Amino acid sequence: DGGNQREFDYFKLTVQWPGTFCRRTRHCCASNACCRGSNAPAEFTIHGLWPDYNDGTWPACCSRSGFDEKEISTLVDTLEKYWPSLSCGSPSTCHGGKGSFWAHEWEKHGTCSSPVVRDEYNYFLTALNVYFKYNVTGVLNDAGYVPSNTEKYPLGGIVSAIQNAFHVTPEIACSNGALQEVRLCFYKDFQPRECKVESILLQDMSLLKSSCPKYVSLPAYVS
Ligand code: 5GP
Ligand code: 5GP
Repeated sequence: DGGNQREFDYFKLTVQWPGTFCRRTRHCCASNACCRGSNAPAEFTIHGLWPDYNDGTWPACCSRSGFDEKEISTLVDTLEKYWPSLSCGSPSTCHGGKGSFWAHEWEKHGTCSSPVVRDEYNYFLTALNVYFKYNVTGVLNDAGYVPSNTEKYPLGGIVSAIQNAFHVTPEIACSNGALQEVRLCFYKDFQPRECKVESILLQDMSLLKSSCPKYVSLPAYVS
C-alpha cells in the first residue's frame, strides 16, 4: 500500500523530557518501569520523527500495514533506552486497535515518511541516528541547563543554546511551566532547517506562541 497522501516536505524530531513527563505519570506507572526509581532516563528521549508539510499540517496513517515488532528486534535494546514509553495507557493505532508507543509512532507518522524512510526498520534506525547526532541533552547541559528542582531557566537562553549548536530555532513545549518537549526540524537529507519559514523573521513570535513561560524548569526525576 503506497499511502494516499502527498509526499511530506520536511521532518520534525520531537524529544521529550522524562523529568517533566514522569511527574504526571508516576502514579499510574506500576507496570511501566521507565518512570520508576533509578530506571528514569536523565536525558531527553525520543517522542517521534514526524513528517510535516510546509503549511503547518501533516500527513498521518499512510499505510494499511501495521507495526511488526519482529522487524525491529535488533534495535529493541537501544529503543528501550532512548525511545521508552513514559505514559501509562496503550495508545491507539491507525486502524482502531491499541498498541505500543512504537506502534503508534510508526503507524501514525512513520508510514508517511516514504520515500525517504523505506520501511519500519529504517524509520526507527533513522530516528535514532538523528537523535544521537543532534544531542539536545548534551547541548543544554554544556550551556549550564542541568536538571534541577529549584532553578528556573530563561526560555530564551535555552533556545539560544540550541541555535548556537545547530544553527536553527527549535520549537519548545511546556507543561505546567516545565520543559516537556524540544522539536528540531530537518530537510529530507537531514540537514537542520527552520520548522517554519516565518520563524526566521518572527522568532520572537514563535516564542510568544510557545506553551512555555519566560522562565522554565527542567525538573530532575524524583522517585
Ligand atoms: P500536541 O497537541 O500534544 O502538540 O500533539 C498531539 C499529537 O499531534 C502529537 O503527538 C503528534 O502525533 C501530532 N502533532 C502535533 N504537532 C505536530 C507537528 O508539528 N507535526 C506532526 N507531524 N505531528 C504533530
Ligand atoms: P502523539 O501525541 O504522538 O499522537 O501520541 C502519543 C500517544 O502515545 C498518546 O496516546 C500517548 O498516550 C502515548 N504514549 C505512550 N508513551 C508515550 C510517551 O512516552 N510520550 C508521549 N508523548 N506519548 C506516549
